[in-house]
Amino acid sequence: MQRILQPGEIETLDRIHFPRIRLPQPATLFQERAARLRQLAAGNPIADYLLFAARLVDAQHHQVSQAAPAEPLPAGAAERASAHGMPLLPVADALPAAWRGTLRGLVAELKGDAAVPAALQPVFDHLAALDDTALDALARQVLADNIGREELAAAPLVMAALQVVYAIRAAALSEKDVPYAEPATVCPVCGSAPVASVLRIGGEAGGHRYLHCSCCATEWHMVRVKCSHCESTKGVRYQGAADAQATPAGKADTRQPVLAETCDTCHTYRKLVDQEQDPYVDPVADDLASITLDLLMGETEFSRASGNPLLAIEKPLAV
Ligand SMILES: [Zn+2]
Ligand SMILES: [Zn+2]
Repeated sequence: MQRILQPGEIETLDRIHFPRIRLPQPATLFQERAARLRQLAAGNPIADYLLFAARLVDAQHHQVSQAAPAEPLPAGAAERASAHGMPLLPVADALPAAWRGTLRGLVAELKGDAAVPAALQPVFDHLAALDDTALDALARQVLADNIGREELAAAPLVMAALQVVYAIRAAALSEKDVPYAEPATVCPVCGSAPVASVLRIGGEAGGHRYLHCSCCATEWHMVRVKCSHCESTKGVRYQGAADAQATPAGKADTRQPVLAETCDTCHTYRKLVDQEQDPYVDPVADDLASITLDLLMGETEFSRASGNPLLAIEKPLAV
């Protein structure tokens, strides 16, 4: 006999329903990120860089309002991605032509801004001179994290343009279009690595941990006991800038808005930003601004799982 749920039980069930995917809202995403970068710049050791990043993110916001609407999803794409457990629109496979116009728009805006460091003018001139083929080649290099020293300064601009175009594409999707991709540590929409993870507050997502895509800003749920890089459930710990050593999950001093989540299995770390500690956290901005924590982690056995899209760092030469 089928049991009928009582009203109280229905409410209890409802509370365990939370979104698997949080799609970005490009109309406010960049505006809020720029404000957060400016807030975090005060007293920060990399204040000047954060203020430049805020200008870049302002320019992203302006590009959102000028951008073409998202291209419709190719027929059968959602079904194919779901059947193969693959990301829906892998960014490196098919660069939408719109990204180049967005990049050129970003470059034009920053080039005319007296507040942007003069040292960046040659980077803007270089990017403005590249033709479509050269720009696409550069984007593929940046996405593959395979850039030479001479292109380092251009990489955040390339990522900024891709973020605008892909956030608009992701925002046009619905949760049911987004596959369960394997591995669960890459973005199910665009296949990029997460920049950080975020503990959300409010609404159905409250109290849940999401990985935040470094490219399209989609957030996908992952239980906190799992490493966001190798999915191991063993030896995941947290370390904050104020902690002397890593603390097992569940025993950490979680009153810090940014913690490094370390994994004893893959020996990497990725930051976790906690909206409960500060409602204005932004995974990209807070990750960038907490560089002191990266310096601290540089003295441990853990290496960073993936980079920040707004900061390109020369990789040490393999020995
Ligand atoms: Zn993505
Ligand atoms: Zn791991």
